[in-house]
Amino acid sequence: MKSNPRRETIRVRLRRDITAFALSVVSPRRTHSRRTPSRAKWSRSPRTLAAAAASVCASALVLVGAAGPAGAERVANPFAGAQGYVNQQWAANATASGGAAIADQPTFVWMDRIAAIEGANGAMGLRDHLDAAVAQGADLFQMVTYNLPGRDCAALASNGELKLGELNRYKAEFIDPIADILSDPAYADLRIVNVVEIDSLPNLITNTSGRPTAGGTTCDQALQSGDYVNGVAYALGTLGAIPNVYNYVDIGHHGWLGWDDNFQPFANLMGQVVRTSPSTPDSLFGFAANVANYGALHEPFFSVSDSVGGRPIREVAGGWIDWNRYIDEASYVRAYQPVLSAAVGHNVSMIVDTSRNGWGGSERPTARSTSSDPITYMNESRTDRRIHLGNWCNQSGAGLGERPAAAPEAGIDAYVWVKPPGESDGASQEIPNDEGKGFDRMCDPTYTGNARNGNQMSGSLGNAPLSGHWFDAQFRELLANAFPPVQ
Ligand code: BGC
Repeated sequence: MKSNPRRETIRVRLRRDITAFALSVVSPRRTHSRRTPSRAKWSRSPRTLAAAAASVCASALVLVGAAGPAGAERVANPFAGAQGYVNQQWAANATASGGAAIADQPTFVWMDRIAAIEGANGAMGLRDHLDAAVAQGADLFQMVTYNLPGRDCAALASNGELKLGELNRYKAEFIDPIADILSDPAYADLRIVNVVEIDSLPNLITNTSGRPTAGGTTCDQALQSGDYVNGVAYALGTLGAIPNVYNYVDIGHHGWLGWDDNFQPFANLMGQVVRTSPSTPDSLFGFAANVANYGALHEPFFSVSDSVGGRPIREVAGGWIDWNRYIDEASYVRAYQPVLSAAVGHNVSMIVDTSRNGWGGSERPTARSTSSDPITYMNESRTDRRIHLGNWCNQSGAGLGERPAAAPEAGIDAYVWVKPPGESDGASQEIPNDEGKGFDRMCDPTYTGNARNGNQMSGSLGNAPLSGHWFDAQFRELLANAFPPVQ
């Protein structure tokens, strides 16, 4: 998940009460479950994969915040009470890199090129995964569709195979074959959660004309060609017509759309996209935050409304918050849910990618700073140890975040691992490849940055392979810095 442009132009002083959530308190609203209501997390006890595959996580739910389109077959919260599919290929990598203790976690399967549908270079294809999910007795299959024409317009690391103008290929060679497979009755009992085209729509807001962050990107072309809007609408409409598919769209993260001049405009864009044929508002079930990013789920030691040395820390230009309304993902999604629901026309479900936002380890602060200097106060109090919120590639010092869980707290339907931890965000140097992937200097630890990260150092790890490829050293660091720690 890329970019995220700071916002400085709008400086409206609005008091907003961003209340810290009580993790243990949930307020059930709808319970359309087929199982017994009770609070549960997906299983995380260390077990063998065989056992993981065989076991049924006897969880159920406390449904929170979700309601989704009225589709009769869809449940209010697809994660509630569901055993998630464990991708054995990811699990084998995780185990080989010392992560047996978490290798039974459900991660998303990425359809990141046409060849991924059938399975390329030894990777399982979509049907292979779905068959394995059925064999595991899973109720929930989680995937990402990620192959828009002109993909990754504000970065290079995940550029793809289709060029702008190739929307017809996207439809006919990518989305339609996926739809054929997902609509196979053999998979009708799976709840298929599908995150559609990450990064794309947020980029149309923040990295297009009029923004200093547009420079060096192809997002204007992506907007003008209509390929992003029409491609996402096609994916939503086509896949959303399958009754057991739950489509989610990416909302970036708090350090991307959390500023006032991004927040409502993105919601307005979503209102347009869901009404672009063949999509209808009911084609969309919800939104996913922090996909493949590193934003902290909760910042426990400071608040966006704190004042230090007589100054509201939020209003310190160039400080960590820099006029953003949010300092973490939980407050961001809670605030966004009603705004997006209004734009889309129905109550939307919210999920957060927690695969790499743990920020534990020895660098994690243990208390609020006592400094009377606002900048120092923010820097000493924050658990997110990035150099800049706009840094997105293989962040040094990051840890695994909360393990996947259903209805973990008010306003969030699930913590999910969309980005499979251990898979690189991009190569730290040029690597020739046939996947269309470029070399983005945000993945180079010696890079001094650009407008999208305040011209700061990239904070990325060295010796990184191409995006999506296994990065053993990163995985080991994520494991060591996990928060909550991995036992
Ligand atoms: C890559 C994809 C990969 C995904 C999950 C993206 O950054 O571009 O190829 O499937 O990450 O690791």
